[in-house]
Amino acid sequence: MSDEPTNAGESLARHSSLVTHHSSLTLLAQRVTHSPEETVNFGRELAKEVQPPCLVLLEGELGCGKTTLVKGILASLASIPEEEVTSPSFTLVHEFGAQGTVYHVDLYRVEGARDLATLGLDDLLGREATILIEWGEKFGEDVARPCVRIRFEHLGLDERRITVERLM
Ligand code: ADP
Ligand code: MG
Repeated sequence: MSDEPTNAGESLARHSSLVTHHSSLTLLAQRVTHSPEETVNFGRELAKEVQPPCLVLLEGELGCGKTTLVKGILASLASIPEEEVTSPSFTLVHEFGAQGTVYHVDLYRVEGARDLATLGLDDLLGREATILIEWGEKFGEDVARPCVRIRFEHLGLDERRITVERLM
């Protein structure tokens, strides 16, 4: 985690349409990881930032580490073993926790707003849960509630820059 959260995230957000719908944006953390293990551990650290209810948008290309980070978040947030966390690319939504307190969603195969509507995300969004959404950028401008956005950049073979922002 960065030592001091700042409000200096505006430049990071300039390219996103999301920010127009949010009055404030806080940079919570930024980390360059050098292995999947480091990314999992970073996810564990982030669990405290995404306590339910929380919508978490994970953005970045295929293979940039979104599912890997979710493994760490779920391990810490809901004691889910890492091997139980797999990409919900086909099933689209995975539910964890006895009362459905955590949802892991992957919008990779979702095309267009109509597809998005059939997913039942509106129903999920009304719950007191943490909802982790891979390919969160597909939400476009529809996000109208506070959330955490996590952006991934593929820097090198095993190097990833991970930026965590809170949108209010
Ligand atoms: P996504 O969900 O974004 O498609 P995954 O987490 O499923 O990505 O896959 C990331 C891939 O990159 C895995 O094969 C993982 O082993 C590899 N990898 C290499 N270095 C890293 C790193 N620093 N962080 C996360 N994954 C990494
Ligand atoms: Mg994935």
